[in-house]
Amino acid sequence: MSQQSVYLDYAATTPVDPRVAELMARHLTLEGTFANPASRSHMSGWLAEQAVEMGRRQVADLIGADPREIVWTSGATEADNLALTGYLRANRERGRHLVTSTIEHKAIVDTAKALEAEGFDVTWLTPDPDGRISGETLQAALRSDTVLVSLMAVNNELGTINDIATLGAIAQQHGAAFHVDAAQAAGKIALDVSTLPVDMMSFSAHKLYGPKGIGALFVRRGTRVEALIHGGGHERGMRSGTLPTHQIVGMGQAFALALDEREQDTGHITALRERFLAGLDGLPGVHINGAAAKSVPNIVNLGFDGIDGESLLMALRKLAVSTGSACNSASVDPSYVLLDIGVPRERALASIRFSFGRFTTEDDIDTAVSELRQALTALRY
Ligand SMILES: *Cc1c(COP(=O)(O)O)cnc(C)c1O
Repeated sequence: MSQQSVYLDYAATTPVDPRVAELMARHLTLEGTFANPASRSHMSGWLAEQAVEMGRRQVADLIGADPREIVWTSGATEADNLALTGYLRANRERGRHLVTSTIEHKAIVDTAKALEAEGFDVTWLTPDPDGRISGETLQAALRSDTVLVSLMAVNNELGTINDIATLGAIAQQHGAAFHVDAAQAAGKIALDVSTLPVDMMSFSAHKLYGPKGIGALFVRRGTRVEALIHGGGHERGMRSGTLPTHQIVGMGQAFALALDEREQDTGHITALRERFLAGLDGLPGVHINGAAAKSVPNIVNLGFDGIDGESLLMALRKLAVSTGSACNSASVDPSYVLLDIGVPRERALASIRFSFGRFTTEDDIDTAVSELRQALTALRY
C-alpha cells in the first residue's frame, strides 16, 4: 500500500478540479457565502441564494435547459429515484408500465425493482451485443399503458453511447415520457435538451470533477413529478431540504468548466486512449467489451482470455481500476452488464474497466501498459 497508485478509475469518480475546490471553500466559513439560501430576511441569505442560482444556470447551460427546469438532488442515484418513482406515482392514473433496460446503473435497476414490488409493471429491454438499445427493441416493448421509458445515455461500464434522439422520439410518439440517466454523458457528449426529445435527465457532479453528494434532475416544464422527500417545499415542491450552497457552486463551476473545456478534454483523452490501445497492440486474447466505435473515449473495458480475474487484479495493484462497476465490487459475481451483452462468464470475470480523465498523463498510460503487459505474461506462462 506504500506505492502511490495510478488512478484510472475516472468513471467511478473523478478528483475535484482544484478550481472547483477553491470556489467551494469560499462558501463554507463565516467569511464566505455560508448562509441558508432560503433565508429571506438578511443579505447573507440573498448572497447564498444568488450563488445557488448561478450554479443552477451553469448546470442548465451545459444541457440547453432553462434554469427553472433544474432540481437539485444528492446525486444521480437520487435523481434516478425521483425520475422513476416520482413520475410513475404522479402519473399512475395514465398507466403503470415502465420500460427500461437490463444494463442500466443499479440506481435505475433497483428503483425499477422496487416499483415492481409496488405494483408497477416493468419491461426489461436487452441490449444488442454492442451494448446499445436499438429502436426496434424499444418499439416492440411499448404498450398502450406505457407511461415512462428510462434509458441511459452512456453506459458506465462499457462507455457505449445510446442513440438518445431516436429512442426518445419513439417513446414520445407513443405518448410515453422519456428519462435519461446522463451521469456518464455530461461533459463527454453534446447534450441539448432544447432539441432532444427528453422529459427528464439525471446528472451527478462527481463524475465531472465536482464534489460527491450533489446532483440534479432536469425536469422539463409541465412534467408532473411527485416528491420523494418532503419538508419545506424547496425546489418547487419536488425536493425538500436546505440547499447545500458549497456543493451547488461546486457542481455549477464543474459544469461551466466542462462547457468551456469539453473539446480540450476530449482531445486529450482521445489521444490517451489511442496511446493505451496502441501499447497493447499485438497482445493475444485481449478484447474490447462493447462497441468501441460508438463509445466515449474515456472508458475502455477490456476482457482477457485465459486469465483468472482475481489474479489479474492482484497483479495490477499499482493501478486503480475497476472490475465490473465500482458499486458491485463487494461481490465476486461477474458484471451483469457484461453478461447481458453476451460476454462469456470466464471473460467477464477477467474484464477490467480503465477510465481516463482530465488529469491523466501519458506517463500514467505508459505505466498501465507496462503493468498490463507484465501481468499478462506472468499469469499466462
Ligand atoms: C455514478 C452513476 C450514478 C450514480 O450517481 P451518484 O451521484 O454517485 O449517486 C448513476 N448512474 C450512472 C450511469 C452513473 O455512472
